Amino acid sequence: MIVVMQLGATPEQIRDVEERIQQFGFEIHPIYGVERTVIAAVGAPELDRNEAKAQLEALPYVEQVTLVLKPYKFVSRKFREQTIVEVNGLHIGSDLFVVMAGPCTVENEAQLLKTAQSVHQSGAHILRGGAYKPSTSPYSFHGLGVEGLAILKRAGELTGMPVITEVMDPRNVETVCEYADILQIGTRNMQNYDLLREVGQARKPVMLKRGMWATYEEWLQAAEYIWLGGNEQIILCERGIRTYETYTRNTLDLNAVPAIKELSHLPIVIDPSHGTGRASMVPALTRAALAVGADGVIIEAHPDPAHAVKDGAQSLTLEAFRELMLSLRPLAEVMGRTLQA
Ligand code: PEP
Ligand code: MN
Repeated sequence: MIVVMQLGATPEQIRDVEERIQQFGFEIHPIYGVERTVIAAVGAPELDRNEAKAQLEALPYVEQVTLVLKPYKFVSRKFREQTIVEVNGLHIGSDLFVVMAGPCTVENEAQLLKTAQSVHQSGAHILRGGAYKPSTSPYSFHGLGVEGLAILKRAGELTGMPVITEVMDPRNVETVCEYADILQIGTRNMQNYDLLREVGQARKPVMLKRGMWATYEEWLQAAEYIWLGGNEQIILCERGIRTYETYTRNTLDLNAVPAIKELSHLPIVIDPSHGTGRASMVPALTRAALAVGADGVIIEAHPDPAHAVKDGAQSLTLEAFRELMLSLRPLAEVMGRTLQA
């Protein structure tokens, strides 16, 4: 932390700031200039530096406080080179380009089984499907709940694929853990801290979607909450952010992949379905995800998108999904990645 004193701050005022910094637990390294004094505060007390900064900046004789360290520690790249999340023998964060696919929502057993068998044959590694659906509208379908979880688990077992599904409520984490292999935290819940703490206690990997409004720093701080609960099996998922564009549902921020690779050791996957809201754009952005170095993708696919209960417009048909998988193979080879688990 660097504290810049106001021009003309008195020796008493400088001493006051130095004492406050020491009380926070820092060591001080002042530079007494002719006109202005700058105090470097070093050391790493367990402290919310943003609060310390706010307290110091409240003093009229402090001009500015600059934080040097990132507000997250364990999910930072400085802590570790790379995390590999293992799910039933699949290594996410390795040279495997992991493909998760399935419907937005589990609607019934026939729909899910048909989808699971088809995407599995096409080469998907993990089955997705929502049983608890967050919706902007209270009038939307909110999922089949436990019945949906049971269908998902059965489809996963029949096809030999692990399953990923969203958990929205801290009270449901234990139940969802009984059925799912990966817990999904949706964009709307990225800053639901009680939920983050609860999945931090779980012994299942967590895929943390980026809040549609969130900066990388906020996203990584949310991941740090999960880590601090004792769960290091975290996958980040970029799913598009809100911008002024209206043609697409969201703006898929592919910058996130190289940025997160610089900032963190956690694997990152891309959701081109919610990132665009348009099935026609999903194949191109899936290839872009592979080209930009993502660890995988999560894609919505449905046997009959025109009758899908949710997110039909962005869902690939099973045939389109198969074609997409075929188009990934040569690209994976060029990029030094594999689609073969
Ligand atoms: C979903 O995966 O179906 C979903 C609701 O995603 P998001 O949280 O990104 O909107
Ligand atoms: Mn969806």
